[in-house]
Amino acid sequence: MSGVIPRILVVEDEPAIQELLRLTLAPSGFDVEVAGTAEDGLDAVRRELPEAALIDWMLPGMSGLQMARQLRSDQRTRLLPIIMLTARGDEGDRVSGLETGADDYITKPFSPRELVARLRAVLRRRAPQHSGDVIEIDGIRLDPAAVAVTVDGDACALGPTEFKLLRLLMSHPARVFNRGQLLDLVWGDHRFVEERTVDVSIRRLRAAIGDKGETLIETVRGVGYRCNGKIE
Ligand code: CA
Repeated sequence: MSGVIPRILVVEDEPAIQELLRLTLAPSGFDVEVAGTAEDGLDAVRRELPEAALIDWMLPGMSGLQMARQLRSDQRTRLLPIIMLTARGDEGDRVSGLETGADDYITKPFSPRELVARLRAVLRRRAPQHSGDVIEIDGIRLDPAAVAVTVDGDACALGPTEFKLLRLLMSHPARVFNRGQLLDLVWGDHRFVEERTVDVSIRRLRAAIGDKGETLIETVRGVGYRCNGKIE
């Protein structure tokens, strides 16, 4: 996961604000993809699931609100962190946006520094696997910056996919992920990979962890997988 730059989809029709968002996010370590309409934004999401979406409220054609609603209602994008960009002081927008399930709001005009801070906060909350924090559960320690895993202090060699998979599961202890969600969040796009690929990687991961592998990563019959335990 380390070395993988979070992709942020920006859906904004005004070129000046597109440029401002690009100039703000790129130097802060984000990979920015810009769409000028909600329809193009949805196409971009279909091609590749971003780590978060910044969506302008007022767009030509489908509104930002409708786009957010659509993302929330689709199993594949249900967990996508969404920040809405709204016009100053429009409390009505804020309320309907909260009902849509957006994670946060940025009011235009915005301070670039605040935007980055709010985006990081949303990513930490909704997608802690991108936070960069060391995670430790039951003697298994995962250090994202070092791309290293140790089991009771001993190094554990994992391939890049198994590392990402473990990072996602350990970042959300007790949450059950189905295979489709794991494919989207770890492999990036479920349409080109078969679901049994997940099972193969889970097997590899458990084997690499050793005795604790079966306990740490639990099979939830008929649903998927979850990480057992509490972050220490
Ligand atoms: Ca607009």
